Amino acid sequence: MLRLLEGFHYTETKEADKADLILINTCSVREKPEHKVYSALGRFRKLKERKGMVIGVAGCVAQQEGERMLDRVPYLDLVIGTHAIPMLAELLERIEVSGQRVCETRFDRSGEYLKALLPEKPLAKVKSYVTIMQGCDHFCSFCIVPYVRGGERSRPSWEILEEIRHLAEMGVKEVFLLGQNVNGYGKGLEREVDFPRLLDQINEIEGIERIRFTTSHPADLSDALIQDFSELEKLCEHIHLPFQSGSDRILKAMHRGYTKESYLERIKRLKEVCPSIAITADVIVGFPGEEEEDFKETLDLMEKVKFDDLFSFKYSPRKGTRAAQLQNQVEEEVKQDRLSILQKIQREITFQKNLTLEGKVEEVLVESLSKQSNQDVTGRTRSNKIVNFPGDMNLAGKLVSVKILKAYPHSLFPSAG
Ligand code: SF4
Repeated sequence: MLRLLEGFHYTETKEADKADLILINTCSVREKPEHKVYSALGRFRKLKERKGMVIGVAGCVAQQEGERMLDRVPYLDLVIGTHAIPMLAELLERIEVSGQRVCETRFDRSGEYLKALLPEKPLAKVKSYVTIMQGCDHFCSFCIVPYVRGGERSRPSWEILEEIRHLAEMGVKEVFLLGQNVNGYGKGLEREVDFPRLLDQINEIEGIERIRFTTSHPADLSDALIQDFSELEKLCEHIHLPFQSGSDRILKAMHRGYTKESYLERIKRLKEVCPSIAITADVIVGFPGEEEEDFKETLDLMEKVKFDDLFSFKYSPRKGTRAAQLQNQVEEEVKQDRLSILQKIQREITFQKNLTLEGKVEEVLVESLSKQSNQDVTGRTRSNKIVNFPGDMNLAGKLVSVKILKAYPHSLFPSAG
């Protein structure tokens, strides 16, 4: 959005009271951010009364709430849905000229909106995120994404490759490919390019040193993609593969499309092909109907996989999803207990995994100065672990071999270069 508006003489300011336009970009995967949007709008109300700027909300909450947001917040000028971003400047002009409040949340079935994601002027950085697809066809029963982002839509491969070549010319060394389900990349495109094929092509781009991606759906993790971890030298040894639950009964209720056994089989295959691969995942505790036995299955899966890190959440009902209508919701206290047990176990696993790196030499791509100290730089290993070590900005964008002297429980590795 910033890039789009730069072409219309907008410049960025970090101070709200200097802005002519305040845009709140939103996510509605969890419920809390939705509440935060309304409290942020509340904070900007006074500013709006004093300065008369334009206030807008973009993203998934905007898509989901639509006109309701305009009804609820009388001083809100713009609600712009996930597919309408390319129209941003046009909608702002309409507001300016007519003084009307605008809500635009139509889905663009043609996929044209994805073109707006192609930057004309990438920001010079070491690492850059590149959206390759949006939307999801899976309809997990707890998730709002397919309703607010629509079905899977992929950007043409030539466009992605052009963007990445451009980024490489600007000095970017690492590309992080983004999509709700990157494994589904290519569906519906005229030319047959699937995700492994796209990775092969990115791997050939001169100047790019590292490739990462997220998120992968376990049911769509093909053998060809797993094989890429041993064949593509630029593809980093890390995969984020959400499992959500270890219980087949709950996985079925979640509509995830795989079983605990088939998930473990994919993990086994990944470790065979790439023994050093780091694996992280998302898990939900307290999905409706989750019994103690189901929770034990989740813990068992964690023990079997030994994830490098885990993003764990208590289930919270999302309005408009099928799971929100289920009657057998789990009590808050039980959810909290399960989350605490799970997180304690994972902390120990993460620490043990980190300890195995002590004494090892890791390749680190230096990204920036460390937040803690101006004398240190920060970067990541190929397995996506953060490393801080003494150095200055001359190292930014360089691949440096770093010996890990000490591992700590919270996955950070302050170490010496
Ligand atoms: Fe949501 Fe991911 Fe399931 Fe798609 S695969 S519905 S994005 S949880």
